[in-house]
Amino acid sequence: MGQTTIPVVSVRYRGVQFRVARLDQAYPHGNKHFKLKYNLREAKRIGADTILSFGGAWSNHIHALAHVGQAQGFRTVGVIRGEASALSPTLTEARAWGMRLEFVSRAQYREKDSPAFRAWLNETFGDPFVLPEGGTNALAMAGCAEIVHELDQQEPYDVLCVPVGTGGTLAGLATALGPGRRVEGVAVLKARADLERRVQALLATVDHGLWSIDHDYPAGGYARAPGYLLEFIAAFEAATGIALEPVYSGKLMYAVWQKLQRGEYPTGTRVLALHTGGLQGRRGFPSLGPCG
Ligand SMILES: *Cc1c(COP(=O)(O)O)cnc(C)c1O
Repeated sequence: MGQTTIPVVSVRYRGVQFRVARLDQAYPHGNKHFKLKYNLREAKRIGADTILSFGGAWSNHIHALAHVGQAQGFRTVGVIRGEASALSPTLTEARAWGMRLEFVSRAQYREKDSPAFRAWLNETFGDPFVLPEGGTNALAMAGCAEIVHELDQQEPYDVLCVPVGTGGTLAGLATALGPGRRVEGVAVLKARADLERRVQALLATVDHGLWSIDHDYPAGGYARAPGYLLEFIAAFEAATGIALEPVYSGKLMYAVWQKLQRGEYPTGTRVLALHTGGLQGRRGFPSLGPCG
């Protein structure tokens, strides 16, 4: 893909105004496009023909890897947490794109980074190029830095707000922000006491701008969608035309709206919310109906 410009739109929701960068519109796999970009380049460089990674039944990362991997001529393997019995639309598509799905129990999945499990994967799948869960590593950060470069061709902003799972996207954005700007993450998982330490580890060897992670908006935990969040998503879409899902973009937009409404930013702060995509996962929440 060449020079795509990320559309930035101004939205107004219940009296609060802010801007949204539509990564979801510019790139079919949102932030996962950027996280995969240099990893696939590296896999090609070292001559790997198979890329393997890990995820759950609705994983945006697995979905993106299957699609982009096929387009670039790789074999892909998804090591999936849980049972094969009820194949989600996400995994059905991944399989249609040629991904081999390997289902493992939750107990096995927890051991996925152990030497014994890795040795088994290497033997079974012919020394694949292995991407960690969520695709977070230094190459993913280099890709995410490019999001900032693309946004810099748009109107300026002071605070870039982004949902945080593993923190790889936030870390990559932080590497590209110069002085005077900061990236503010909204954690989508509950009680991840080590999240900051992990992000610090990712950023240990690079210069970076200011970053922080807000832990006040997990809405019950990863992939949980309490009624107030589902109502917000429906009302926000009705008011702005922007589709969200409960796992990432819905929690982000809810948090940004709440913080602006509470006056947590000094007057005049230019807040830009990054819609990182993930709308394919909305199919796991049928009450929301199809996007648009
Ligand atoms: C994966 C994902 C994130 C989180 O990215 P991390 O780098 O793991 O923090 C945010 N939004 C969407 C839509 C995602 O798919």
